[in-house]
Amino acid sequence: MTMSPGRDANYIGGEFVAARSGRSDDVVDPATGEVIASVPTSERADVDDAVAAAKAAFPAWAAKTPRERSEALHALAAAIEDNVEALSETEMRNVGKPRSIIPIEMDLSVDNLRFFGGAARNMEGKAAGEYLADHTSYLRRDPLGVVAGIAPWNYPLNMAVWKFGPALATGNTVVLKPSELTPLSLLHFAEITADILPPGVFNVVCGQGETAGDAIVRHPDIRLVSLTGDVNTGKLIAKNAADTLKRVHLELGGKAPVVVFDDADIDAVVGALAEGAYYNSGQDCTAPCRVMAGAAAFERLVPALTDAVGTIAMGDPFADDIAMGPVISDDQRSRVEGMVDRAVAAGAEVTTGGKRGAGAGFFYEPTVVVNPTQDSEIVQREVFGPVVSVQRFTDEAEALAWANGVDYGLSASVWTSDVGRAMRMTRALEFGCVWVNQHIMITSEMPHGGFKQSGYGKDMSAYSLDHYTELKHVMIKH
Ligand code: NAD
Repeated sequence: MTMSPGRDANYIGGEFVAARSGRSDDVVDPATGEVIASVPTSERADVDDAVAAAKAAFPAWAAKTPRERSEALHALAAAIEDNVEALSETEMRNVGKPRSIIPIEMDLSVDNLRFFGGAARNMEGKAAGEYLADHTSYLRRDPLGVVAGIAPWNYPLNMAVWKFGPALATGNTVVLKPSELTPLSLLHFAEITADILPPGVFNVVCGQGETAGDAIVRHPDIRLVSLTGDVNTGKLIAKNAADTLKRVHLELGGKAPVVVFDDADIDAVVGALAEGAYYNSGQDCTAPCRVMAGAAAFERLVPALTDAVGTIAMGDPFADDIAMGPVISDDQRSRVEGMVDRAVAAGAEVTTGGKRGAGAGFFYEPTVVVNPTQDSEIVQREVFGPVVSVQRFTDEAEALAWANGVDYGLSASVWTSDVGRAMRMTRALEFGCVWVNQHIMITSEMPHGGFKQSGYGKDMSAYSLDHYTELKHVMIKH
C-alpha cells in the first residue's frame, strides 16, 4: 500500500509535522511481515507541542454549544462512512483483519460517534433549588480541558473513537496516541477531521509507550488520561499519573468465562464460540475464551467445538471467504504459542490447532485446549490470541467459583434455559458485562468497562460522558 507523503508525521494543531527528532518507526503488515509505512518516533517535545495546541484550542471548543459539538461529531461519523473503503483497507493492512469482519467495527465507530453527538445535547446537572434559605444552588458539568487517549492495537480506530468521542462531545480537546504497532488508521482519520474540527481540537502523536505515552501520562496540562491496554500498562499509568493527580480511565484486559450448563443450547454455544472467540484472531478483551461446562454439556460441546473450529478459514485478510487473519506481531504469536505449549506440558489436550500457520505472516491456528486446571496459566492469564480453553465443572457453585476466580472482571456469559439460574449467576458474576445465552454483542447505549483488574471507568453509553466532565456546584445568595 502506498502511503500519502504527509503520513510520516504527527497531526498537531491542524498540521502534519515530523517528529522533532526527525526519527521514524517502521510499521509492519502482520499478514506478510513487510514494512508498509513509517511514522514519527515522538518524544516529550512532540507531546508538549500537541498539548500546547490542544490547550490553545480548548476555550473556543468548550464555548461551542452542545448542538455545534454534536453536529461536528455527526460530521465525523459521516466522514468515516464517506471514506470507509480506504479506512477499512488501512485497518486490514495494518492489523491483519479479514474483509469479512471489518464492516462491523467501522459501523460501530460511526454509530458510537452519532450516539456521543446525541448524548452531548443531553448532559445535565441533577439539582437546582434552594437548599439553604436565600441561596440557590445548581449543578454544572464542565469539560476538564486537555484530555489524552492512549489506544491499543486490536481495534485501533474504534478504541480511539471511544476516547475522543465522549471527550469532544463534552467540550474537551484531545491528544491521542495510537499503538506503535497500528498508528495508520488514526493518522488517516486525522486527515479527515481537518475540514470538520478547528485546529488543535484533535491531535495525534505517534510513538512508543515508554516515551511518548509516558510523556502524556506525566504532562501537567493533561487533565485525564484514558488508556485501553494491558493490565500491567494500566497499573504503571495509574502510578505515573499520580504525581499530577490527573484522572485515569482504564479499560484493561479480560478473561471472559463462558459458563455452559447442561440445559444450554449447545449448538448456539458452539456457534457463538466459533465466531466470537476467533473474531479478530481472538485479540478481543471480551473474547469468549474460557469455557466451563457441566459434565453432559462438556461431552457434547468438545467434539462439536473441535469440528467447528477446525473449519475456520485462516489466511490472507484480503482474500475472499477468510474468517481469521494473523495475530498482530511475531512477539504476540510467540506469546500465544508459549502459553499453549505450556498448557499441554501441564497436562491439557489440544483438540484442534496448536501450531503456527504457513508463510511469512504471523499466523497461529485457531486452537481449542481441553481440561486445563483452574490454576493453570492458560486459565488465569489473558492469551489475546485464537485460543479457547474448556474445563468441566461439577456443579453451579464450582462454576461460579471458577468463573470469578481470576484477576480480571470485564465480561462473562451464562448459557442455560433455567431463568432462575440465569438470575443467580448474573447477580453473582463479578464482571462489567454479563450476557445470557449470548456473548460479545455490544451497543453504543450500554456501558463497557471492567470490575477488578480489568480497570475502572466506562466506555460508550451516557456514563462515559460523566468521566470527561467535572461536576461544579454553583451557589447564589439572594
Ligand atoms: P499495551 O498495554 O501494550 O499498549 C496499549 C497502549 O499503551 C499503547 O498505545 C502503548 O504504546 C501504550 N503504553 C505502553 N506502555 C506505556 C507507558 N508506560 N505509558 C504510557 N503509555 C504506554 O496493550 P496492547 O497490547 O496494545 O493491547 C492489548 C491489551 O488491550 C489487551 O490486554 C486487551 O485486553 C486490552 N484491551 C482492553 C479493552 C477494554 O475495553 N477493556 C479493549 C481492547 C483491548
